[in-house]
Amino acid sequence: SDQEEQILFGNGGKDLNRTDDTDFNYLRKLARQRYLTERERRQMILLEGELRDFEGDIKEVGWEKLAERERREYTIKKEIMDIYRRRKEIEEAEKNGGSGSFLIQDDYVTTEGRIDTKRKHDVLWGKANRGRYGDSNDDDKMKGVSRYTHLKEAKPEKKYEYVFDRSQEVEFTSDGDDDEPELTSEQRELEEKIKAEEARVRSIEETRKSLPVYKYRDELIAAVKKYPILIVVGETGSGKTTQLPQYLYEAGFSGKQKLKIGCTQPRRVAATAVASRVADEVGTRLGDRVGYSVRFDDKTTDNTVIKYMTDGMLLREFMSDPELLSYSVMMVDEAHERSLHTDILLGLLKEVSAERPDFRILISSATMNAEKFSTYFDEAPIFNIPGRRFPVTIHYTLQPEANYLHAATTTVFQIHLSQKGPGGILVFLTGQDEIETMAENLRSTCERLSGQMDREMIVCPIYANLPSEKQQLIFAPTGKNSRKVVLATNIAETSLTIDGISFVIDSGFVKEDRFSPTTGMQSLSVVPCSRAAADQRAGRAGRTGPGKCFRLYTKWAFLHEMPESPAPEILRANLAGVVLQMLSLGITDLIHFDFLDPPSPESLIKALEQLYALGALNEKGELTRVGRKMTDLPCDPMLAKCLVTAGDLGCCRDVVSIVAMLEESGSIEGGRSKKKAADNGPSNGGSSDPSASSGNISAMEKFRSRAKARLGGDHLTLLEIWNQFVDSGFSPQWCRDNNLQYRALNRARSVRNQLEKLCERLALESEEKGLDELDEDDKDRMRVRIMKAIASGFFANAAKLGRSGDSYRTLKKNQTVWIHPSSALFKMKPPPKMVIYNELVLTSKEFMRNCMPISAKWLEEYAPHYYKSTE
Ligand code: ADP
Ligand code: MG
Repeated sequence: SDQEEQILFGNGGKDLNRTDDTDFNYLRKLARQRYLTERERRQMILLEGELRDFEGDIKEVGWEKLAERERREYTIKKEIMDIYRRRKEIEEAEKNGGSGSFLIQDDYVTTEGRIDTKRKHDVLWGKANRGRYGDSNDDDKMKGVSRYTHLKEAKPEKKYEYVFDRSQEVEFTSDGDDDEPELTSEQRELEEKIKAEEARVRSIEETRKSLPVYKYRDELIAAVKKYPILIVVGETGSGKTTQLPQYLYEAGFSGKQKLKIGCTQPRRVAATAVASRVADEVGTRLGDRVGYSVRFDDKTTDNTVIKYMTDGMLLREFMSDPELLSYSVMMVDEAHERSLHTDILLGLLKEVSAERPDFRILISSATMNAEKFSTYFDEAPIFNIPGRRFPVTIHYTLQPEANYLHAATTTVFQIHLSQKGPGGILVFLTGQDEIETMAENLRSTCERLSGQMDREMIVCPIYANLPSEKQQLIFAPTGKNSRKVVLATNIAETSLTIDGISFVIDSGFVKEDRFSPTTGMQSLSVVPCSRAAADQRAGRAGRTGPGKCFRLYTKWAFLHEMPESPAPEILRANLAGVVLQMLSLGITDLIHFDFLDPPSPESLIKALEQLYALGALNEKGELTRVGRKMTDLPCDPMLAKCLVTAGDLGCCRDVVSIVAMLEESGSIEGGRSKKKAADNGPSNGGSSDPSASSGNISAMEKFRSRAKARLGGDHLTLLEIWNQFVDSGFSPQWCRDNNLQYRALNRARSVRNQLEKLCERLALESEEKGLDELDEDDKDRMRVRIMKAIASGFFANAAKLGRSGDSYRTLKKNQTVWIHPSSALFKMKPPPKMVIYNELVLTSKEFMRNCMPISAKWLEEYAPHYYKSTE
């Protein structure tokens, strides 16, 4: 009854009854119930935790700041919890007093032998004798006071006087709600969720505590407090990336102003995967307290206090917040990789540190290079986290393997069929195409061998462009009867830690962005990885127990063909894009910028020249309007320039398509995996033999003639393919019919979407119609505009037909080059007098890939200063 309620629950109980919010009925019922099952108790424990969090928030932001709804929710939950606590006190008292046997006074038993619950309640809650009992919670009053005597005789030593009968449900738990012990299916579902969630939280907690950094938590926090710059060194998997930002947050580094704790990653996948893991650990939704920011994808809110990001994104943030005032700590992770962006960041952060004494910098690195960072940061202390590593035995091949994809596939099965236990296999390859090809090979071989395999093989690819739902797969634990085979790029070397790996297969190669000073072009090429990288890779096998590493190269190659450590990116990249970004950050004195490894003055000057020629800089070296727009386009300055010009000429839509297709041009054509596997063998360094890639000529010819490739070359052919792909409704069947790779086109599609959005933001205008929607007459005019836009970016790659009539000579360097056999312009009669190319590839000869005929007049129009000087 109401009265009882009030006595038991105080006024809170009344308020509670008045709320219409039925969401809390279930909890309220549990709180009042005398006996809770194990899982019900857990539910209350969850509620308790929730309230604790709530109270923390209130302390931090203040009660007034809470939304009305939040306040109400808090009040109700708090009241429920109070009830529960009082109930527990009662239970405690029972345990202390009665040890399970209960006295039931005669006069409470009715004549039918049942307990008169009404009376029982009255006595229990002091109602019947109100005034005589006083506050039954008050010990002193209870003890030995004569007015208790009539109960004392029955049970003198007890704090509470009870009548208790386990055999009969105690009705007062029911307040008129249904008292069904049966749970609805929804509740059951909820229960199950709670159970699963609890198990997960428990395992996360255990993992966190088992990590090597955990023991050093307090020392680390103290060190960060003491030193503005700290170098942290530890084995991969010791918990640097996931734990350090959390420790600092927990230690209050975020402060009252809720400053962010940032952590940079050289790779996009690492930033997103780690952020989602940490969000899990913290128990928050991704994008709430823990978030990430990578190119084209920002998952942060005003609530975000732990933020993972790519180093490139932080560079962009420097543009708007040069002192990083919204951060209290910045952790530069994977610094040993020496990505170009990281290197620039180090210089910028050093400046921030000089200006903001409160600012904290952590440089975290795998074991190599630590001394160098310390020296660079004026002898900053190095904090070493002792790792744990089990021995890994290394196996080399006896002879060089001609095709590492093939060798890797074979090795996987060798291990899978011969090794007992579910230890996982991690294979290091160089890129997405290889990974996809190998995944296919493994799956098809699995089908054929299924009879011989006593455990299932689970193939998980991981590379930069993999959608994030699929990325998470590599972390999922596998059952006892299966073996995980992870196919990864060098991302799994140090940035991501995958548990349960006992075997590593190392191709010994890596794809690197290299800038060739001779061609002036930057391209991704497959090169031998360094010995340091190979050792990191091997180490992945020894995290959870002794492991084995199979190197698909000879020991001799390891010692003689592989460099000791990877060259910092800044020393091998095309600097123009970096210089552009640095200028937009207001760093004008590039020669004196405090680089960890300064690029040569010559290469800096060359970069400045290139930007000047592209019209991104004026004579004084200041950014121009064009230059500023280019800064906002996250692609190579030459491509960026094409897009900006296209904006001016009103043909952006088509040029965006071409730019997106150019990136994939090498993999669009041709049949399935077989050919690719052969092409990617290490013996030819990753560059394919041009004569092999002729593909299905008739399909290509069709596109070429429709694109008037004679005039528009490979660029307009790519546009034609794209437009037809769009018309097909992005159909895989259409791709198969035309001997095109659906996957490559699909990747182009996603790049194109992203670029298009950026172009819209930069207000790069486009005509209402694209090339494919125009009349014949307008088409020709549009074609010229598109080609001019391309030429405006790539004029430096112009080549003139030589006297012999088959080879060309580059205008800038007078280098002899040939049109690539895969080009639409190959063996064309008569050959175009002048072409520009997208890239040079060196195989048997120096070939120009993706060529477009141009008119010499365009060079005068778009690169007057560039070509004047050489004339
Ligand atoms: P470090 O940065 O020192 O190399 P990490 O902080 O990245 O180490 O990883 C620490 C541990 O966290 C790993 O050993 C792994 O067990 C766990 N972990 C990291 N990321 C994930 C994830 N996405 N899913 C599950 N576990 C993860
Ligand atoms: Mg890490």
